[in-house]
Amino acid sequence: MNGFSCAALEMPIGVKLCRGKGSLAGIMQPMSRQYDYPDSPLYRLRHSAAHLLAQAVLELYPDAKLGVGPPIDNGFYYDFDFSQPLREEDLQKIEQKMHEIAQRELDIVRLETSREEAEKLIRDIGQVPYKIELLHAIPEGETISFYKQGDFIDLCRGPHVANTREIKHFKLLSLAGAYWRGDERNKMLTRIYGTAFFSQEELEDYLHKLEEAKRRDHRKLGRELGLFLISPEVGSGLPMLLPKGATVRRVLEEFILQEELKAGYQHVRTPEIANLNLYRTSGHYPYYKDSMYPPMVFEDGEELILRPMNCPHHFLIYKSEPRSYRDLPLRIAELGTVYRYEKSGELSGLIRVRCFTINDAHVFLRPEQIKAEVQHNIELINTVYKRLNLTDFWYRLSLRDPADKEKYYDDDQMWETAESALRQALDELGLEYHAVRGEAAFYGPKLDVEVRDCLGREWTVSTVQLDFLMAHRFDLEYTGEDGKPHRPVIIHRAPIGSFERMMGFLIEHYAGAFPLWLAPVQVAVLPIADRHHEYGAQVRARLAEAGFRVELDARRETLGYRIRYHQTHKTPYMLIVGDKEAEGGLVAVRSREMGDLGQMPLDALLERLRAELG
Ligand code: ZN
Repeated sequence: MNGFSCAALEMPIGVKLCRGKGSLAGIMQPMSRQYDYPDSPLYRLRHSAAHLLAQAVLELYPDAKLGVGPPIDNGFYYDFDFSQPLREEDLQKIEQKMHEIAQRELDIVRLETSREEAEKLIRDIGQVPYKIELLHAIPEGETISFYKQGDFIDLCRGPHVANTREIKHFKLLSLAGAYWRGDERNKMLTRIYGTAFFSQEELEDYLHKLEEAKRRDHRKLGRELGLFLISPEVGSGLPMLLPKGATVRRVLEEFILQEELKAGYQHVRTPEIANLNLYRTSGHYPYYKDSMYPPMVFEDGEELILRPMNCPHHFLIYKSEPRSYRDLPLRIAELGTVYRYEKSGELSGLIRVRCFTINDAHVFLRPEQIKAEVQHNIELINTVYKRLNLTDFWYRLSLRDPADKEKYYDDDQMWETAESALRQALDELGLEYHAVRGEAAFYGPKLDVEVRDCLGREWTVSTVQLDFLMAHRFDLEYTGEDGKPHRPVIIHRAPIGSFERMMGFLIEHYAGAFPLWLAPVQVAVLPIADRHHEYGAQVRARLAEAGFRVELDARRETLGYRIRYHQTHKTPYMLIVGDKEAEGGLVAVRSREMGDLGQMPLDALLERLRAELG
C-alpha cells in the first residue's frame, strides 16, 4: 500500500481477494490499464465473454460507444457510453442476446493492421471517440490488432478463445458508473460487470458465494446486530463502536493482552500525536506524507502530527535506558491507535478506515536470536488463531531480490542471516510456506499469514517483519558480551493486525454468530409472563455474578417475538423461564447451534457454559 516501513503499518489494510471492500462485491475493481492481466485459459474465456457482451450491446443498442472491456479477477466488465441510461432490468435482455450470439458459433479471428488502417476501421464502424483514444495510447512499434466475430470487431490485443460456442457459462452481475480512463474529469460511462466460468457448476458455486458474501457483509451485519455506526457528521472512515461492538473489541483486547503477558511482552501507552521530526528521523516524512494527516504547526514553530505508526514511540522507550545483551529480546507492546489518510472512495466499513488500533509490538533482539523469536511469534499467532477458530491459513515469506541493490538496504550479511533464520524457523516447526523473492520491504524480510475465510477469500491477518534499518536511524544500541555497542534487530509484529479490520473479518467469517467467548451478549433470559420477571432477574444476576454477559429481555413483546429477535441477533443461549422453571430453580435452554435443549437446573447450565468457554 503506502510503503510505510512498519509491518504493522502495511498490514492492516490490504485484503487480497476482496481488496478494499471486504466482501466479494468489492473484488471488481477497475484495472488501471486494459491489458494488465495474466494470460490464462480462464482470463481468455472471460475476455471473450467481455467481447460477447459488447457485441450483444451493439446489437441491442446500435448507437452505444465502447470503452474498455478487460477480464478481471472474478469475471469481466465492459464500459459503454449509452445514449439512454441503462437499467438493472436490461441486463437480462443483454444476457439473453449473448447466449443467442454464442450459439451462432462464430469463429473469433485476429486481424493485424497498420495504424492508419486501424484508425480508418474504427471510424468506419463508428467507434469514436474512445477506441480512437485507445489506439493512440498504444505505444509506437507495438502491433495493432483487432478481434472479429461475425459482424463485431474490436480493437484488442487478445488472446481469445477460438469460437463463441466456448462461452457458455456466464452471468451479468451488476451496473456501475465508471469515469472514462478512471479520471473524474472525463465522462461517466456505464460499466457492466459479469462473470464466466468453464462449467455451470463453477458458475453456480461462484454465484452462491457472492450471495453468501452479501449476506455476510460486515457493513450490513454491523448495522443489523448493532455493532458499529458510521456517521457522516463524525466523518467518513471513522466508525464508532456501539455497546455490542465495543464489547467484542474489549474481549478481543483482553484476550490478546493476556496472551502477550504470558509471552513476555511489556505493555506501554504512548500518545497518538507526535513531533513531526520523529517521522523525519524514521524517513517516512515527507516520502509518505500522502498517507499522513497534515502537520499542525504552532506559533513557536513546533509541528505535531497524528501518528501514522507506533514504532518511533517504542524506539524511544527502548532508548530511554542503557540496554545490555542480557535484556534482549525486549518486547514492547501497545494497542496503539494510528491515523492514516485513505481516499474516500477506498473507505469501507471497518476494513478500510482512517483511524485504527494495531495490536502492535516491537521486539528488540540480537541477530542470533532471530530464529527463536520468530518461532515465539508464530506460537503466539497460532494461539490467537486457535482461539478464533481460524484453521485455513498459510505463510508467505517475503525475501529480497539480491540483484536489486537499489531497493534493498545494503547489508548482505544481515539479509542472509535474517532470511536463513526465517526459513529455519519455519522448517523446524514443519510449516509449509511460500517464499517470494523481491517482495521484502527495503529494510528487511517479512513473514505474513494469509487466512482463508469460510468463503475461500484470503486476508492478510498477521505479520512478523524484520527491520535492520530503524535501529540505525534512531541510533539504538545494546552493549554486547564483548562490552562494545551493537545495533539490535527489530521485529515489528501484529498477530491480530488492526482491531477494526479483524472485527470486520470476524463478522463476515462467523456471519455475525460470534463464538460464546466473543459474543457481545452470551445469554438472554426471557420471562414468559410478567409474573416471571422476578425469577428471570434472579437468573440474570446469578449468571452475571458468574462472569457471563447476560441480558434480561422482559420487553412487553410476545415470547415468540423475543425469541426471533435473539435468533436474528445470534445470541448463543436463550433461557426461557415460566412457572415450572421458577418453582424448580430450572431454566429452559435454547442453544443457537443445537436448538432446544430442554429444562435443566441453573447450575447445570453454568457448568455447560463454562465447559464451552474452555
Ligand atoms: Zn512498527
